[in-house]
Amino acid sequence: MKLLYFLILSFIIVGFNWAKVEAKSKIKKPNLIVIMADDLGYADVGFNGSTDIPTPNIDRIANEGVKFTNGYTSYSVCSPSRAGFLTGRYQQRFGFERNPQYQPNDPNMGLTTEEMTIAESLAKVAYKTSIIGKWHMGAHKETHHPLNRGFNEFYGHLGGGHRYFPEELTIQDSYAIASEAESYRTWIMRNHTPEKTEKYLTDEFSDEALSFVERHANEPFFLFLSYNAPHGPLQATEEYLARFPHINDTKRKTYAAMVSALDDGVGRVLNKLEELGIDDNTLIVFLSDNGGPETKNASENGPLREGKSSHYEGGYRVPFALRWKGKVKPSIYDFPVSALDIFATISRLTDSPVSKERPLDGVNLIPYVTGKNKKAPHQNIYLRKFDQQRYCVRDGNYKLVMHNKGKTKELYNLSTDIGEQNNLAAQMPEKVKELETILNEWTAQLIDPTFLGLIHTEAWKKRGKKSIKK
Ligand code: CA
Repeated sequence: MKLLYFLILSFIIVGFNWAKVEAKSKIKKPNLIVIMADDLGYADVGFNGSTDIPTPNIDRIANEGVKFTNGYTSYSVCSPSRAGFLTGRYQQRFGFERNPQYQPNDPNMGLTTEEMTIAESLAKVAYKTSIIGKWHMGAHKETHHPLNRGFNEFYGHLGGGHRYFPEELTIQDSYAIASEAESYRTWIMRNHTPEKTEKYLTDEFSDEALSFVERHANEPFFLFLSYNAPHGPLQATEEYLARFPHINDTKRKTYAAMVSALDDGVGRVLNKLEELGIDDNTLIVFLSDNGGPETKNASENGPLREGKSSHYEGGYRVPFALRWKGKVKPSIYDFPVSALDIFATISRLTDSPVSKERPLDGVNLIPYVTGKNKKAPHQNIYLRKFDQQRYCVRDGNYKLVMHNKGKTKELYNLSTDIGEQNNLAAQMPEKVKELETILNEWTAQLIDPTFLGLIHTEAWKKRGKKSIKK
């Protein structure tokens, strides 16, 4: 009799567990779309207060999701920031601290293969992955090409920026050149094949995004929609320019038109998700890769100090929003979050693998934005700019900035002084000391940059010009 009870009980337990396993496997893995703008100002989206450039579609992501007021990237220029997002780790840990030179023959000039990308991780749990637009992780075919770094599909350009009009893209072979300027004129690559484009580049990338989403609607996918807009050169079509009769400054007008084109693309992607009935199961993140270079592209960072490439807030606090309809309620989130969190979030949601030896610096944001965890996701946000010898840490609301080999120290309270105008270092020496210790502990984990950057090419050019003048 006892044996019979045991057998019945065993069946129940086994059956129950089996049902649980089956239920888990039926939970649909969420799609991930990361839409990254390039050099977009903090204040140039409607959800951060822009009035002269309407961005109704980007705003939809923020209004139907979470608007981050303190969203950071891990660096204040393009390529290191993107390396951080793609690996989920502070890129200074692996020496990626400069915009690389465009060198198709140099396997060291870009993202090391020792690091795992978010695409490599997701591909291991059967995600279809694609990058559309700007890559900027190196131009060496075997080492750096997106298809060799976890992406199943690529439609875009390898360098740090691109010209927008098809007639200006005159260089067919992306590997036959060796300068950043030339890389702006290459044909667009579809996987490994150069293709002639027909449209304004931003529209071209939006078309491709729709095609990818349509083709993979029935399987889990990750799309990195990496617009090069509104990064220079400032170029826009009449169609988009005509939307801004109220802006007289030509530079700002062109910039506005470029942002508007991007916003149209975002709207088309959102509509497509809706049409395909997959918008509830698609997590979307929108952000810029760094702050707006205000004097270069006429962007605006609003109350933030300085802009692109700076160690002040305007350099790396960016427009940042996340939407996951039905799972995450609309809200405004004020604790600091990081672009490094995107990899950690999706990896946690999908059980995709991460390296134990090279742990992620980000965290899964979902418990925080759903209110399950009321604490701050990060106590500290860090920045090191090796070439300029700038070091920063944000700890809660305080931010320490060190330069001049640690001799110059600035302390700001960002909760009352978002513009970093009031240096409290002399008044609060204890706080400075505390933050300096935290900062030094982090810095000790970093390595020196492993490759030279564009800034060195530019420096050589300048020196060259001077010697010619002599
Ligand atoms: Ca950028």
